Amino acid sequence: MVLDSLASSLRETIRKVTGSSYVDSETIKEVVRDVQRALLKSDVNVKLALQLTKNLETRAKEEKPPAGMTSQDFLVKIIYEELLKIIGKDSKLVLKPQVIMLVGLYGQGKTTSAGKLAKFFNKKGMSCGLIAADIHRAAAYEQLDQIAKQVGVPFFGIKGEKNPVKIVKAGLKQLENIQVKIIDTSGRDALDEDLISEIKDLKQVASPDEVLYVLDATIGQQAGPQARAIDEAVGITGVIITKMDGTGKGGGALSAVSEINSPIYFIGTGEHMDDLEIFNGNKFLSRLLG
Ligand code: GDP
Repeated sequence: MVLDSLASSLRETIRKVTGSSYVDSETIKEVVRDVQRALLKSDVNVKLALQLTKNLETRAKEEKPPAGMTSQDFLVKIIYEELLKIIGKDSKLVLKPQVIMLVGLYGQGKTTSAGKLAKFFNKKGMSCGLIAADIHRAAAYEQLDQIAKQVGVPFFGIKGEKNPVKIVKAGLKQLENIQVKIIDTSGRDALDEDLISEIKDLKQVASPDEVLYVLDATIGQQAGPQARAIDEAVGITGVIITKMDGTGKGGGALSAVSEINSPIYFIGTGEHMDDLEIFNGNKFLSRLLG
């Protein structure tokens, strides 16, 4: 599981704290250093790691535990709260008729997530259709068509059409009576002007309720700048972190999420259409540190 090494380092730090007989400035210094090292090793952006540990240090030194709580438990609570800050605010995708546009780079899991989301809405009793606006990757049309058949939801695409704006316009019209319309857009190997202008045009024509950024959990330090550029272009409203079942450091994705200040709605935990979990920061952190 992604973030395994971060989890084991942090657990070790917490064990150290709870096992210590008292908390003094030396303990705090050591904890701050351990947490910092664990974050950096997991690919968390340096600025973010320093900011988190600085907050941790200040709070640990200045705040006093409430009555009935030991200083060890209080220090653990502060570590927990500061980590929760980078994981972000809890917010759920609203179950209402809407247009959802998925954006992200190539191979991050957009097309797969489109199918997973369709299944999710279907399970909640809402009709959902998929629109294939990825005109860049040769097999994207077939892949989404296949996924739509597998999930059992309507699909719209225009094979061979190179103008995604045309596809989206026609698709939204065709799926008029479907409650949730999900648009799969093109990625690129790397972020470029072409992609930015393409997704900007699509946003304008689709007026989506949600622009979801699909991000591979195993991505490294490049995640932050990429997310920021896409956010500036189209305004990301939420994030799906995929491949949480994979191996990787995970901190790059978390740094990106913290940078764009958008909620993580879902995590992808496998290649199957059921492998999608609603994200809950508290639960996630408890599992990580549990
Ligand atoms: P796109 O280029 O962004 O549309 O990416 P795809 O949806 O085609 O996904 C790229 C690869 O990642 C495919 O082989 C998917 O099966 C795989 N994938 C997507 N999401 C997950 C996930 O949550 N876990 C795992 N293990 N693989 C995933």
